[in-house]
Amino acid sequence: MTQELKRQVVEANQALKSSGLVALTWGNVSAIDRDSGLVAIKPSGVPYEELKPSNIVVVNLENDVIEGEFKPSSDTKTHLELYRNFSSIGAVVHTHSPSATAFSQAGKALACLGTTHADHFYGEVPLARALTAAELAQDYEHFTGVSIVECFEALGLDPVEMPAVLLRHHAPFTWGQNTVKAVENSIALEMCAQMALMSYQLNPELKPIPEHILKQHYQRKHGANAYYGQ
Ligand SMILES: [Zn+2]
Repeated sequence: MTQELKRQVVEANQALKSSGLVALTWGNVSAIDRDSGLVAIKPSGVPYEELKPSNIVVVNLENDVIEGEFKPSSDTKTHLELYRNFSSIGAVVHTHSPSATAFSQAGKALACLGTTHADHFYGEVPLARALTAAELAQDYEHFTGVSIVECFEALGLDPVEMPAVLLRHHAPFTWGQNTVKAVENSIALEMCAQMALMSYQLNPELKPIPEHILKQHYQRKHGANAYYGQ
């Protein structure tokens, strides 16, 4: 099981590079085996082309390294906080993809402006708050996760319907039921952010998509009455 999970994590991390979402090593993917509670994650600072199942790190939900010679990604504690609180998710992706990161840096949530966005994210992709100096001093990556969970609780968001968040001053996180879905959500988020930037340029007064169109498009692809695809 861990072997298969590690293989999926290698492939997903390499997909970040090949999809053009990340430069250098600005991104990481992890996946969890819910039966054992073990998480496979990218080793810190290792180039994507050098990844193989044997250098993927396995940690438990308490952040103890269970397998692997390398240090896990520096963002591991953020991933773990998401797995502990969002019980329905199976994989987590972090990137600094440019257009989504532009919204993070500008301190703006990503409004749903059209059906491309509505197909993947049910409404506005939220912006999690900036961390305090005390949180940074205590445990930066852990509190990054805390700020995401807090944001979802405050807004009453379901992490299945909204598989993405923008971190203020930082960049996005996405997730999904497995690594393929979580990476897909990162690609969709980047494309939607890019389209939003162009749309605001054409019409700075732009308003979000009407509720009934949002609902129709989201439900076409998700939930009990989905009818998109084969
Ligand atoms: Zn980052």
